[in-house]
Amino acid sequence: MTAKKIIHDPLFLSQPAAKATKNDLQVAQDLLDTLMVHRESKDGLPAAAGLAANMIGEKKAIITLFAGFLPMVMLNPRIVKKSGAYLTQEGCLSLEGERPVQRYKEIEVSYQDLGMQAHQQTFTDFTAEIIQHEVDHCLGKLI
Ligand SMILES: [Zn+2]
Repeated sequence: MTAKKIIHDPLFLSQPAAKATKNDLQVAQDLLDTLMVHRESKDGLPAAAGLAANMIGEKKAIITLFAGFLPMVMLNPRIVKKSGAYLTQEGCLSLEGERPVQRYKEIEVSYQDLGMQAHQQTFTDFTAEIIQHEVDHCLGKLI
């Protein structure tokens, strides 16, 4: 387990992430380990439902999240379809407070897994919301 420290610097977090390659699989593993450590609240931070690699100081397009109870890792996630816009409030492990944001109830995501295999998959509701939040991190968007 190599859980990393969570970055809180908004300047660092506003920089978009670079494409992830198979050379970044260690980053993906560290990110997953960090998510597992933060699955319950820790160090004064709330529990995390997902993380993006720039939150542990790596500007790579890698996210991890709980899809239900199942931890997932996505490399180069991209939302290719979205429907059912709604407004909600979101907090972030890296930032204080909550902010209003528009999300979509159903999304289709293309990504690569830890074996660099390409997938295209549909997600809904809370899982879809976590993915949208983490994809925003990869784009350097702060919520
Ligand atoms: Zn966040």
